[in-house]
Amino acid sequence: MHAERAMRPVFISSPIYRATGYAGNHPLAIPRIGTVERLCAGLGWTGPAHPILDSPKADRALLLRFHSPDYLDALQRAERAGGASAEDRARHQLGTLENPIFPGLWDRAATSVGGSVLAAEIAHQDRIAYHPAGGTHHGRPDRASGFCYFNDPVFAILRLLDLGRRRVVYVDLDAHHGDGVEAAFAGDPRVRTISMHEAGRWPFTGLAHDRAGGQACNLPVPAHLNDSEFDRLMQGAILPLARAFHPDAVVITMGADALRGDPLSRLDLSNVALWQAVEALVQLAPAAVVLGGGGYNPWTLGRAWAGMWARLTGQAIPDVLPAGAQAVLAGLDCDLVEPEDRDPAWETTIRDPRNDGPVRPEIAALVARQRQAALTEEV
Ligand SMILES: [Zn+2]
Repeated sequence: MHAERAMRPVFISSPIYRATGYAGNHPLAIPRIGTVERLCAGLGWTGPAHPILDSPKADRALLLRFHSPDYLDALQRAERAGGASAEDRARHQLGTLENPIFPGLWDRAATSVGGSVLAAEIAHQDRIAYHPAGGTHHGRPDRASGFCYFNDPVFAILRLLDLGRRRVVYVDLDAHHGDGVEAAFAGDPRVRTISMHEAGRWPFTGLAHDRAGGQACNLPVPAHLNDSEFDRLMQGAILPLARAFHPDAVVITMGADALRGDPLSRLDLSNVALWQAVEALVQLAPAAVVLGGGGYNPWTLGRAWAGMWARLTGQAIPDVLPAGAQAVLAGLDCDLVEPEDRDPAWETTIRDPRNDGPVRPEIAALVARQRQAALTEEV
């Protein structure tokens, strides 16, 4: 743990994530945070020694710090009416297949903002705050985007700055480009955003040369990224770029959709590689916020984010799960993952085997390019 960090990490969540949600065949209509919490509780990783802190709900005044009043009005209007008008759909991307209107939407989205602001406040005490329900990194000031209505990582970063942190590094390991966060701080010398994401995938931004006004770093990676390649990117580019910025706080969107088996992307990381990366990132600064993000395979997401909490708190992960935890995983279902694509180990274990492999030339080129950019800045 960080040299100045003595207190235990804090897990932030809310019962609202189990009570409300996306419906039907939406990719987020799977039990995500509920699975993480049930696994953690079943394995003794949360409880009296590691309580889960209840997330407050952000009020309108707080939301106005980043989102426009027109957009907030439209969101409330759409939820009340049970659907968006044609005008609100066109102006704010609400009520689309991607960003549907469902009961409890406002409260759920506002709670994720409240949770990330609380995470920032806890992190400011030189601690690690873990808020896996956060990470809605595509949200824009005046529109929904990519299943995200508000942008809670932006609020976490703003809170850290308000509290007096001077230089914040944001690292996004989700399979999709962290476009909303990058745009929010484009040209802001206090925030460096670093996003690793699958090349050629929605939202199709975050090209290697795109610096978004100066401080952004983008690492678009080829499909089937393996653990060896990810380690090279971390050691050769992501960590050096983050350190070169000399951050006093770090905010991480870890994602679970860069893991092997995710139905919406084609990256092949093991959860062990993701855990190691996040463990290295939280060492970058005394204040650390770890957020969730995307992830559309309920087995790989539940295992990765429960295991992440065990790792951050130094609790042992059994090789084979006890019956209760196996039952949590066996009880999951997902229309997007075909039965023949379900790895039997997803129901009996938490830890993946590492997925090492050759490091392709484009990875080495990406590292060289980004390292050059970091060295140039340090001079
Ligand atoms: Zn994603």
